[in-house]
Amino acid sequence: MNARNLAIVVPIYNEAENLSALVLRLNRIAASIAGDHGLSVSYVFVDDGSRDGSFALLNHLDYDGRPVRLLQFSRNFGKEAALSAGIEAAPTADAIIMMDADLQHPPELVLDLVRIWQSEDVDSVYAYKEDRRASEGWLKSILTGGFYWIMNRGTRFDITENAGDFRLISRRFADALRQLPESERFMKGLYGWVGFRQRGIPMTPPPRLHGTSSFNALRLVALSFDAMTSFTTTPLRLMALAGLCIAALSGFYGLYIVIERLFFISSGIGISSVLALVAFFGGMQMIFLGLLGEYIGKTVLEAKRRPPYVLAEDRTLGAPASSETTPQEQETP
Ligand code: UDP
Ligand code: MG
Repeated sequence: MNARNLAIVVPIYNEAENLSALVLRLNRIAASIAGDHGLSVSYVFVDDGSRDGSFALLNHLDYDGRPVRLLQFSRNFGKEAALSAGIEAAPTADAIIMMDADLQHPPELVLDLVRIWQSEDVDSVYAYKEDRRASEGWLKSILTGGFYWIMNRGTRFDITENAGDFRLISRRFADALRQLPESERFMKGLYGWVGFRQRGIPMTPPPRLHGTSSFNALRLVALSFDAMTSFTTTPLRLMALAGLCIAALSGFYGLYIVIERLFFISSGIGISSVLALVAFFGGMQMIFLGLLGEYIGKTVLEAKRRPPYVLAEDRTLGAPASSETTPQEQETP
């Protein structure tokens, strides 16, 4: 393969404490990638509305002269938007690597991602959490399992379980992502949707260097729900199926009551069982309506065609505007 430039995209939300260590390690990795594979490395940092001075700090770090693009959002738009912005910002890169800023995605693994991409016929290489089941509680395991079950039902593509956003994508893979028009972007789903040959390598994420995760249980549930309603209509089918089962059961029950009345002595039903049933079906209907509402809400949001993010700053450091020319000068095919 004849690739020349690798862009490393990092979404950043209040990571000031981690940035110096991250850049230091990235610089080392970038140097050995240049040595081993002849790839020049550039960085894209997307500040997702941090309030701890991350962006100011990014302007002053030492990138060993590598081209750096610094984007700052006008507010916090979320990691998915930040990743999309990063991919947009590197249209000429032959491959893009996305990784977290908190060093939970060990920069040293970048070498493996690049090596596999260079030596095998794949368009995406991702790292997956090996011992997720062991490290997370049973409740989270069951919920995640259910989530992926629903997500992978009724779609022609698979969304890889346990794969995070630590991933290398080839240029045509990135091109495909850039073409997707939706403003609500669940990247893990989009990676699956895009297709191509993908390969996973195991990793054991170390704990966060500093700070705390932005994704608490509630936010994860919300994200899963958003992902589900934007990728699959299986929940709607399940709803219809549940309705069908309940209708059939009540039909049989009705028949049973009539037969009992006609041929046997009726035992009669108390008012409390009727009340319980009414409340049960009331609840079921509310759940179903709520779910339906979620899907309609998605349509309304997408119909507005709002951009996924708004930029406050867009800076290029290092080799200005030459990120495309320098690597070509170094090596002509
Ligand atoms: N992040 C972001 N926007 C957000 C939340 C997080 O860009 O609204 C970034 C964050 O700075 C980090 C990555 O996304 O680089 C992963 O976030 P975090 O470590 O909080 O999540 P976890 O490791 O728990 O998945
Ligand atoms: Mg993290």
